[in-house]
Amino acid sequence: MQINPARLQQHFEAMSLIGKIGETGTNRPAHSPDEKKAFELAASWMQEAGMTTRIDNFGNLIGHLEGKDASLPVLMMGSHLDSQPYGGRFDGVAGVLCAIEVATTLKENNITPNRSIEIISFADEEGWRFNKGLFGSKGILGKLEEGDLQRKDKDGVTREQALKEFGCDITKFKQDEYKQGSIFCFLELHIEQGPVLDVANKSIGVVSGISGPLWWTLKLKGMAGHAGSVPMHLRKDAMLGAAEIIVALNQIATQVPNAPTVGTVGTLNVFPASRNIIAEEVTMTIDLRDIDLERRNKYEQQLRNKIDEITTKHQLTYSISEDTNSEPRYCANWIKDIIHNKCRALNLDAPELMSGPFHDSLPMSYATDYGMIFIRSKDGISHNPLEYSSYEDLVIGTNVLLGTVLEILKK
Ligand SMILES: [Zn+2]
Repeated sequence: MQINPARLQQHFEAMSLIGKIGETGTNRPAHSPDEKKAFELAASWMQEAGMTTRIDNFGNLIGHLEGKDASLPVLMMGSHLDSQPYGGRFDGVAGVLCAIEVATTLKENNITPNRSIEIISFADEEGWRFNKGLFGSKGILGKLEEGDLQRKDKDGVTREQALKEFGCDITKFKQDEYKQGSIFCFLELHIEQGPVLDVANKSIGVVSGISGPLWWTLKLKGMAGHAGSVPMHLRKDAMLGAAEIIVALNQIATQVPNAPTVGTVGTLNVFPASRNIIAEEVTMTIDLRDIDLERRNKYEQQLRNKIDEITTKHQLTYSISEDTNSEPRYCANWIKDIIHNKCRALNLDAPELMSGPFHDSLPMSYATDYGMIFIRSKDGISHNPLEYSSYEDLVIGTNVLLGTVLEILKK
């Protein structure tokens, strides 16, 4: 059994017209009229696959294919149709459209599954509009947090207002939550958004898990002084401390060759930021990720020691605020095994790799077993109109997803 490559490509092309920017870009904000249009189009394809469709009160699009035994926990697949404001046409879209293609192929082959299948396009995965993502996937699991509805976008519109305009009723959240045990497993196909598969020249990969980021804001404090008059050995230069810490983080994250550990300082705020004043204060962000929590914890300790050592050397004081500390979430071994077997059956060499970015699978992992298939991203580019995955690779990934679904349906 094989999926229909021409139909899959046609669906991607039709979807790319909604919120299109430039030649290849997409701007489809969460809970927006463009997202609604995307939902209507995807819903029409879900209906062709024999699914009933609805938009729930969190703003998720859900297609439901009733199984022979509707009391069994559902097999759920999906991703998201919202995009970054200057995004591409594959991020999230792939997980929804490839799942629809799988369901359509089942219908064409007259397969009525034992358990129901659901395809979901989660609301606001991207998180830029209200500065917090994964709204829909957290919503259905009853994991929304205090203040989530009062967050405002740049025009002052609250999430509550945006949901209302989208047609959602926030007083009915409870009825759209999924009960513990009602989801058998969750499958998400996604573009890699990084260069690992492209460099290895592989079409698809099997995700081992989503690494948990450790996010810090580190503040270094020294003493401002005239850049012309304070001798080098008498300085308390916060910038120099910051520079050494950046290098130290890089050394810590690269000490095991080829390990997936990544460490990044993405921002520096310097005070008073004058060319002839020694920096008194530097505030920097630190992002440390690893799929191996034990190793990440070890590296965190090494970094703390280094920060101590470097600040002492330069007579600086410092403070660390921990902004996020999430643990890695591993894909279920039994699902990974099925995906690997399907790849072998198709003569594919699909390496295992971790996901640095988070996905809707992250909240889902707390409710059910999950598995992810990654599709090669050309040059590793994503969150950019230049984002590109070939239809050949998407077809391969969708066939693996189809095989995986057929195998899981035997359970
Ligand atoms: Zn995504």
